[in-house]
Amino acid sequence: MAGALTLRVITPDHIVLDRQVDRVQVPAADGLMGILPRHAHMVTALDAGLVTYQVGGSEEVLFVSGGFAEVRGDTVRIVSEAGERPEDISEERASKAEERARKLLDDGAGGPGVQIDVLRAEFALRRARFRLRAKRRS
Ligand code: ATP
Repeated sequence: MAGALTLRVITPDHIVLDRQVDRVQVPAADGLMGILPRHAHMVTALDAGLVTYQVGGSEEVLFVSGGFAEVRGDTVRIVSEAGERPEDISEERASKAEERARKLLDDGAGGPGVQIDVLRAEFALRRARFRLRAKRRS
C-alpha cells in the first residue's frame, strides 16, 4: 500500500517533514524500530541517529537528535532537538564536531565531573558520526 503512513518531523524551530511514506525506521533509545502501516499505537524515546523512510522505490534519510516518536493510527510523529536532511548538513561542521568530541574523549581521563563530560562527549560524537553518515549516503 503506497504512501499509507504520514510521517511528521518537528523540531523547536520548524516542521522538517510532513509526507506520505510507505515505511519508516526510527533510532529508538533501545535500538532501531521499523514501522509499517497498522502498527500498534506506541511512544518511544529516540537516540541521535537516522530516520529512514521509503517513498515509492526510493529510501530517504533524515538525521534526528533525541526526542520522541509516537505512532497513532497511520501517523508517525517525531519531535526532536534537530532534524536535518542530508542537504541541510554541513559536512565540515560535523567533521569538526567529530574531531572535538574524539579529542575530549582521548584527553578525558581523571578530574571531578569527568563522568558527565564523557557522556556529553560520547553523545556529541554520536551526533557528528550520524550526521556524516547521512551526508555520505546522499
Ligand atoms: P556543533 O558542535 O557543531 O554545534 P552539535 O551536535 O552540538 O554540533 P546540536 O546541538 O545537535 O549541534 O544542534 C544545534 C543546531 O545546529 C541545530 O539546529 C542543528 O540542526 C544544527 N546543526 C548542528 N550541526 C550541524 C551540521 N553539521 N550541519 C547543519 N546543521 C547543524
